[in-house]
Amino acid sequence: KKQGGGGGGKKGETLLALQCKKDENFPQWYTDVIKLSEMIAYYDISGCYILRPWSYKIWEMMQDWFNVEIRKLGVDNCYFPLFVSQDRLEKEKDHVEGFAPEVAWVTKSGDADLAKPIAIRPTSETIMYPAFSDWIKSHRDLPLKLNQWSNVVRWEFKYPTPFLRSREFLWQEGHTAHATYDDAQVMVMQALDLYRRVYEELLAVPVVRGYKTEAEKFAGGHMTTTVEAYIQGSGRAIQGATSHNLGQNFGKMFDIKFQDEKGESQIAWQTSWGLTTRTIGVMIMVHGDDTGLVLPPRVAPIQVVIVPIISKKLPMEQAKPYCEAILQELEELGLRAKFDDRTMYNPGWKYNHWEQKGVPVRIEVGPRDIEQKQARCVLRYNGDKIDVNIDGIATILKDKLEDIQEKMFAKAKEARDSHVVQVTEWKDFVPNLELNNLMLTPWCGGEHEDWEEWVKTTSREESLKARGEEGEDEKTATSLAAKTLCIPFDQPELPEGTKCIASGKPATCWVLWGRSY
Ligand code: AMP
Repeated sequence: KKQGGGGGGKKGETLLALQCKKDENFPQWYTDVIKLSEMIAYYDISGCYILRPWSYKIWEMMQDWFNVEIRKLGVDNCYFPLFVSQDRLEKEKDHVEGFAPEVAWVTKSGDADLAKPIAIRPTSETIMYPAFSDWIKSHRDLPLKLNQWSNVVRWEFKYPTPFLRSREFLWQEGHTAHATYDDAQVMVMQALDLYRRVYEELLAVPVVRGYKTEAEKFAGGHMTTTVEAYIQGSGRAIQGATSHNLGQNFGKMFDIKFQDEKGESQIAWQTSWGLTTRTIGVMIMVHGDDTGLVLPPRVAPIQVVIVPIISKKLPMEQAKPYCEAILQELEELGLRAKFDDRTMYNPGWKYNHWEQKGVPVRIEVGPRDIEQKQARCVLRYNGDKIDVNIDGIATILKDKLEDIQEKMFAKAKEARDSHVVQVTEWKDFVPNLELNNLMLTPWCGGEHEDWEEWVKTTSREESLKARGEEGEDEKTATSLAAKTLCIPFDQPELPEGTKCIASGKPATCWVLWGRSY
């Protein structure tokens, strides 16, 4: 279906509309939205994508915010090389086991084989920590708190999804070393709280904070914390970002030792934490609608677009000064605004264009608006139209944008909350999974990996049976099995004698399950 944008745009040019609805074919909807909104362009290597300015600007805004916050915590930015030698990569056994299947190797330069292949970083623990070993000698050298913004490569065997799971992605990785476990743990929680704030305060996406189970924690780490988001359109959870307490595992392997105040030699306690361009995909999936993107105002590259309704009655020369005056007011108040004065596109085309790109507010200026010294404001997230007096329009819109941000978060939270249920008996597990719910269940504790596997296998089998299907297509991006998302920090009361949903043994905590990306 092609859409003329209210009567054709540039002569002979039409604007594509979304081919399908979000709740009818979610994966196709997502692919169409990211292309039409000019966020992503495809590339000829599977799992690699071009981030166009519209998405890269959002990434830059997140970077700006994050840099301010980590500076407050005494974290400095730096940059380490992209490559890692095989010796170093393989130094921490569990770590390399976790990452080995996804590591990409450089084996040639030109026609000649390299004497030893070198790896492209899947993460930078093994690149940074030899330097940490050189730099840390005394307790006075601690804490050491570094961050780098970089790309990493993980040659994922799972089906790739733009932003959510790509083979090369952008991220920040924080790496710190401390004198005590407790100091490291404070850092882990501070980083995790920044991740919560990125999702909730910038992207208007609610998250659940919690610990990963032993089976799901970071390879080689001591303990992993996570923020988990929920995507209603697919009924799936997604790991938003992770902050790891590495304990002394890497310190031992990379010889990161310091003399404490008593002159005794100690091994440093470390953390690492990462947030990736996955964030943008989660935001798109949570807020987008059948027209396209819906951007939360705080990360919208353009918050307000001004579109003049040009006609015989209102020529551009007359509309222009009026629109420019509005633009100036908005910019003076710090709003990111744009006056779309292109004459080759008609107003209807522009409306569609900026709606697809998710701009939070559109201002329409027609002859009547100019007469009455007002402007019509149309809100992207709910379609509301309000006529605003030109005096003080910037202040009104500034408040409105904050209001939109809050309402978008509230709406997403309501959708998420209505899909989190407490389940205490196995018979209710898969039926809830089939309703796209996340299940909070009693659990017998962190070390029972076998039971976690059992839930994965059994939930998948029972889901298939409930659907009357044979088996999943190997190529699908996602599985029907439920997995543990986290052991939430916020734990409901656990009455004495409560049994684990899987093993039937006494439960020690509540754990959150769901299908996941
Ligand atoms: P990790 O270093 O494995 O803890 O990964 C840090 C974060 O990166 C995870 O919490 C995910 O949110 C994100 N992530 C992992 N794999 C990918 C990928 N292939 N593409 C984009 N983001 C990813």
